Amino acid sequence: MRAKAKPGEKQSFEVDCRLEQDLLDTRNIKLLTPVRVKGSFFYQNEKLNLSADASCRLQCMCDNCGEVFEREFKFKIDEEFVENYNSHNVEDYLINQAGINIDEAVSDNLLLNLSSRVLCREDCKGLCSVCGKNKNYQKCNCESNLDEIERKEENPFGKIKEVRGE
Ligand SMILES: [Zn+2]
Ligand SMILES: [Zn+2]
Repeated sequence: MRAKAKPGEKQSFEVDCRLEQDLLDTRNIKLLTPVRVKGSFFYQNEKLNLSADASCRLQCMCDNCGEVFEREFKFKIDEEFVENYNSHNVEDYLINQAGINIDEAVSDNLLLNLSSRVLCREDCKGLCSVCGKNKNYQKCNCESNLDEIERKEENPFGKIKEVRGE
């Protein structure tokens, strides 16, 4: 983006950022759309402040039950960019001759805003640890059966039998 054209003036912008697909591979997440970024920036004294709302559509895999689902994802970006020659920090976002490239700031903020666990729904029940059924959709009796087995094991007569059997 040509960011230095009007120093001292707040300017609105709206862009679609096409981020690298492999950005989210480790999280089993796919970007289904470019990230739409809409906001404003302000350049003055060799610094630029950018503030924007971003949104995109993601294909995610539930960390609990493994179901693949789509969701809209929105996040905010508030970042400062500094002139290339003024930067002393490798983590700075830079302003170059041509202006700024916001892709890196967008992908950093996207990753930052994704929660460490992505769930298909807030109350995802997950998979049955015994039979593997998705408990959001199917009921199974494994848990009540397990309870029964445990109850039997706690039965003192069961233990007496074991002792006698030795
Ligand atoms: Zn789930
Ligand atoms: Zn089960």
